[in-house]
Amino acid sequence: MKIIVTGGAGFIGSAVVRFAVQQGHDVVNLDALTYAANLQNLASIEDSDRYSFKKGNITDGAYVSEIFEEFQPNALIHLAAESHVDRSIDGPGAFIETNIVGTFRLLEVARDYAKGRKGFRFLHVSTDEVYGSLGPSGAFTEETPYAPRSPYSASKAASDHLVRAWGETYGLPILLTNCSNNYGPFQFPEKLIPVVILNALAGKEIPVYGDGKNVRDWLFVEDHAAALLLVLEQGEIGRQYNIGGENDVPNIDLVRLICGHMDEAAPSGAPHDALITYVQDRPGHDRRYAIDATRVRNELGWSPSVSLSEGLKRTVDWYVINQAWWEPLLERPGVGERIGTKL
Ligand code: NAD
Repeated sequence: MKIIVTGGAGFIGSAVVRFAVQQGHDVVNLDALTYAANLQNLASIEDSDRYSFKKGNITDGAYVSEIFEEFQPNALIHLAAESHVDRSIDGPGAFIETNIVGTFRLLEVARDYAKGRKGFRFLHVSTDEVYGSLGPSGAFTEETPYAPRSPYSASKAASDHLVRAWGETYGLPILLTNCSNNYGPFQFPEKLIPVVILNALAGKEIPVYGDGKNVRDWLFVEDHAAALLLVLEQGEIGRQYNIGGENDVPNIDLVRLICGHMDEAAPSGAPHDALITYVQDRPGHDRRYAIDATRVRNELGWSPSVSLSEGLKRTVDWYVINQAWWEPLLERPGVGERIGTKL
C-alpha cells in the first residue's frame, strides 16, 4: 500500500512507520516536528526507498492536499496529535487546534481525494481515555458511551466524532481505533514510564501522582503498530476497534515493577523503589481504565505478543543503553518540570 502517516516522528507514529516500511509498504511521514517529535526514531528506515518525510502541519489543508495529489495514497493513518494530558491542563489551545481542527482539515482533504476513487482508507488513531473513568469493575467496549474528562481526552473524543460523522455523512471510508496506554523504546521523556526509568537512573525522586492507585492498561508499542496495520488492511469500513494489552495495573505496582528491572539493569542504584515519592495528584485524574479487546481479537485475530514483564524489561534495557537518544530531549521545554497542576 501507499500510506500517509501523520505524526510519524512521534512515539507511536515512528513505530508504525518502521513497521509499515519493514512490511513492504510505501510511506510518507507528515509531521510538524513539535517538541514531541524526533526524526532519530526513524534512523533504521530513513534511507529506505519506501520512506519519505514531509515537514508540515495537518491544519494546513492546502499543503496536505498537495501531498495527497503527489503521492496518491491508498490509505492514511492519522496519529498526529498533542498527546500529553498534563500539558493539556496548562495549555488546552494547542490540543483544540491540532486534535480537532487538524483532524477536520485532514478529513476534508481526504473526502475530496476519495471521491470517485475505490479502496482508499482513513484510519484514525485514538485513545481509551475518550471513555472517561471506570469504577472498580468492568472494561471499555466499543459501545461504552464517551465521557472524556481532560482537555486532551475531550479533544480526542471530538476528533473521533468528526471522523465518524465524515464516514456516515459523506461516505468517507473510515476506521477508528481506541488504544490503551502505550510504552516502549522512543517514548518522549515526559510520560510515566520513561520518567520513572530516567529518574531511577539519575538517583532522583520518582514521582507518583496521588495515592498511586490509578489503574491503567499497558500495551507494548510494537503490538499497537501491528494492530493498526491489521485494522487498516482487514478492518470493516466504518467500524471502531478497541486495542489493549489487557494488563491492568495500579500505577504504584507498575512503578515497583520498573524499579525491579532497574535494580538488575543498573545495580549500583538499587533498591530503586526507595526513590518513590507521592506527589500532588493531577486535577481530574481518571481513576481506572480497562480495555475489552474482544472485537479486534475475534474479528481480526489480533492479540498482543509481548507480556508486560518482558516489555518493561526491554524498555528499561533500551533506555539504559540509549542515553544519546534521550539526553538531548531533557533540554526541551517543560521536560522534567511538574506541570498540569496550576488551575
Ligand atoms: P507523540 O506526542 O509522541 O507524537 C505526536 C507526533 O505528532 C509528534 O511527532 C508531533 O510532532 C506530531 N504533531 C503534533 N501536532 C502536529 C500537527 N499539528 N501537524 C503535524 N504533526 C503534528 O504522541 P504518541 O504518544 O505517539 O501518540 C500518537 C497518537 O496515538 C495520538 O493521536 C494519541 O492520541 C494516540 N494514542 C496515544 C497513546 C499513548 O499511550 N501514547 C495511546 C492511545 C492513543
